[in-house]
Amino acid sequence: MVVIETARMKKVLAVEPEDGFAVVQPGVVNLALTKGLAAQRMHYAPDPSSQAVCTIGGNLAENAGGPHCFKYGMTTDHVLGATVVLPDASVARLGGPAGGPRSPAGLDLLGLFTGSEGTFGIATEIVVRIQPDPEAVRTLLASFKSVEAACGAVSSIVAAGLVPAAMEILDQATIRAVEASVFRAGYPQDAGAVLLVEIDGLAEALDDEAERIEAAFREHHALRIESATDPAERLRLWKGRKGAFGAMGRLKPDLYVLDGVVPRSRLVETLREITAIGKRHGVTLTNVFHAGDGNLHPNISFDGRDAEERARVVAAGHEILALCVAMGGSISGEHGVGSEKLDHVGLMFTPDDLEVMHRVRRSFDPDDRCNPGKALPARAACGEVAKWPKIVKRVMDAEARLESGGDAR
Ligand SMILES: Cc1cc2nc3c(=O)[nH]c(=O)nc-3n(C[C@H](O)[C@H](O)[C@H](O)COP(=O)(O)OP(=O)(O)OC[C@H]3O[C@@H](n4cnc5c(N)ncnc54)[C@H](O)[C@@H]3O)c2cc1C
Repeated sequence: MVVIETARMKKVLAVEPEDGFAVVQPGVVNLALTKGLAAQRMHYAPDPSSQAVCTIGGNLAENAGGPHCFKYGMTTDHVLGATVVLPDASVARLGGPAGGPRSPAGLDLLGLFTGSEGTFGIATEIVVRIQPDPEAVRTLLASFKSVEAACGAVSSIVAAGLVPAAMEILDQATIRAVEASVFRAGYPQDAGAVLLVEIDGLAEALDDEAERIEAAFREHHALRIESATDPAERLRLWKGRKGAFGAMGRLKPDLYVLDGVVPRSRLVETLREITAIGKRHGVTLTNVFHAGDGNLHPNISFDGRDAEERARVVAAGHEILALCVAMGGSISGEHGVGSEKLDHVGLMFTPDDLEVMHRVRRSFDPDDRCNPGKALPARAACGEVAKWPKIVKRVMDAEARLESGGDAR
């Protein structure tokens, strides 16, 4: 086995503000790129919550998202080109800075490479789109009695035709963990949930947009509304959200961050069933999520030294991902499959679908040299679709009970 490390390839090779692109090595840290562009009043839009440590190479491999992807799109919308070393050691140049996101000439091989989880080759240079900072930014925070009310406000905002840059929800357990930690942001601890909404654009348009968003908050009986344009105040409102995963370290020694997606209209019922799954397995669950995208991050805090607890955590995690699929969603919103979710891939794809994906992968990597065993289940396992038939049935039953107005449990 050969392990290839790209973390020290962290040079920004070129910045071309006029043409709106930068060329970076794969080990450049996401936030470092944006910080480095501050003098030009530009930034790189995709902002995973892990942006202080994750790299552009990892972002490309996972097609990473983040809070601001509701308006600005995922990594694939911001990568213009990449130089990649293929498994036979040849070097390929996919896409390039010219001609918009990707040239319409030829097949979109860059799009194929993006999100392939390192199974097609290794990116050694990446051309990313950089964009001017918006003229004005406003961050609003509303607290609600329940997660349901916060989700209701998100639906009203979208129904009003507004497209905020970000819409993030933290549930009560997360708020309390944050407020007890160094990431304390002054969120009201008695609230059932807080909703963080960010809007950006022309300064004169923001007042009207903020008013309409506050109206949506009030429609869902917001308990408290804060609004900030001052950078330090905005940073405070974001501090709790950005530090939420770190704050969970206070609850138990280990954290299992799940990542699934459901249609936005099914957020409330999905969250209700997730709570029921957590109770059934007796695990400590918190929720912090990209509400605009229906991208859930149920987090299970646990003590990995306890084998029995670990088994309950894994079982609950499996059920939650199966639930997302049953709700018409996906087993991943932005973190990919890796090796953790290999067993779940069959819930979404037929053996024929998987065979096509294996063929595409083999055309880049015929001998399975790059990240073998990741992203796609081994061909032999492709026939084991719905390896979790009991789980799926239980989830479907719970869903039917919810639809008929009953209790998910
Ligand atoms: C607390 C927390 C919050 C997170 N929040 C988000 C979020 O908001 N949005 C989101 O999308 N993700 C999020 N993530 C997941 C993760 O941070 C992202 O997937 C990120 O893009 C991974 O980047 P990395 O540099 O850490 O990659 P790594 O973990 O080092 O690698 C990820 C994969 O990419 C491959 N890879 C790395 N570099 C290259 C390269 N140069 N060429 C080819 N393949 C390569 C690796 O082999 C590996 O399979 C979060 C994770 C944590 C722990």
